[in-house]
Amino acid sequence: MFKGSEQFEAAKLKQTRHSVQAADAPRLVCGECGHAITAESERITMGGAHQHTFTNPHRVTYRIACFRDAPGCAYVGAATDEFTWFPGYAWRIALCARCGAHLGWLYQKAGSAAFHGLISGQLRAE
Ligand SMILES: [Zn+2]
Repeated sequence: MFKGSEQFEAAKLKQTRHSVQAADAPRLVCGECGHAITAESERITMGGAHQHTFTNPHRVTYRIACFRDAPGCAYVGAATDEFTWFPGYAWRIALCARCGAHLGWLYQKAGSAAFHGLISGQLRAE
């Protein structure tokens, strides 16, 4: 009886540890290749919302979500504030560092922390 409950406790502990890990920071990966891009814990609110829908000058509409860090991204091009969706922020194109898929944009502003606007649908839970 004692031995049995010990085993039960051990199993319960293991399960608890597993769910804490899962709740900790599930990763979000590139929808094309599975490369780890960012984590749920990096989600932030910018301009009063986490998700935004914007249309670029080519009339392409993007639904994006804001993230603080996205270590799995690579960036191309010089920063520009042309047609920026976040006033005061210049942007660069953010790609998957492994496969080059376009994932969104990096936003930078002097004196503020940079953040990412990543296209919903380009990332998936790991
Ligand atoms: Zn990729």
